[in-house]
Amino acid sequence: MRKKVVAGNWKCNTTVQEGVELAKAVNQLVAAKGPEDVVVVLGAPFTHITKVVESVDGARVGVAAQNCAAEASGAYTGEVSASMVKSTGAQYVILGHSERREYYGETSEILNKKVALTLENGLTPIYCCGEALEIREAGTQKEYVINQLEETIFNLSADDFKKVIIAYEPIWAIGTGKTASTEQAQEMHKDIREAIAAKYGAEVAEEISILYGGSCKPSNAPELFANPDVDGGLIGGASLKAEDFIGIITAY
Ligand code: 13P
Repeated sequence: MRKKVVAGNWKCNTTVQEGVELAKAVNQLVAAKGPEDVVVVLGAPFTHITKVVESVDGARVGVAAQNCAAEASGAYTGEVSASMVKSTGAQYVILGHSERREYYGETSEILNKKVALTLENGLTPIYCCGEALEIREAGTQKEYVINQLEETIFNLSADDFKKVIIAYEPIWAIGTGKTASTEQAQEMHKDIREAIAAKYGAEVAEEISILYGGSCKPSNAPELFANPDVDGGLIGGASLKAEDFIGIITAY
């Protein structure tokens, strides 16, 4: 059985104090009503991670960085390496988010290095992919997304690939209030799983969790998560309110 995962991506929001409050509130709600079989992850800013790790029960709530450096260490002012993330107690790194690709010029080449460093440090990459509106309108979204995977994580050995969580986030659905329909989500998740099966075999494909992201909220999560190939969500705006986030966690 592959894992069900609900991961929050706080993006560039909250002070350290607000983040700690949010983490504590989520932690309490997860303890009270979070299903045991759903892996919950909080994607906090670097500055918050150590304190967020301390504020949650690590057996129930994991912590993710939202990025890491493409180099292991050295003279890279302002960068935070995968080994530094590991030393905080975080277990995950969100990589390849469309906002990082678009605003910070993250190419497949850069992502290859980040994915490799994340895995070398024993962290789990939550690898994001997804197409822009023009691509969806042109009907070439499947080719586009599979190509993103081929250029990055499909270079991994099967053993490493099995450690990756994939998040499909159509860019046109991020922060727009426009969710992919349940059919659109299922179709792409199935296409991704078939591409994994073609590359790594059906058994590996069955093990990989593929999350949906883009305007996911408590009201639409049950329908999205009911799809056979949707294994959870990567949640932006709705992860900033503990009540909304638990509403998504309990949507299974
Ligand atoms: P929203 O849930 O705010 O649309 O953001 C999705 C996202 O980008 C998560 O990584």
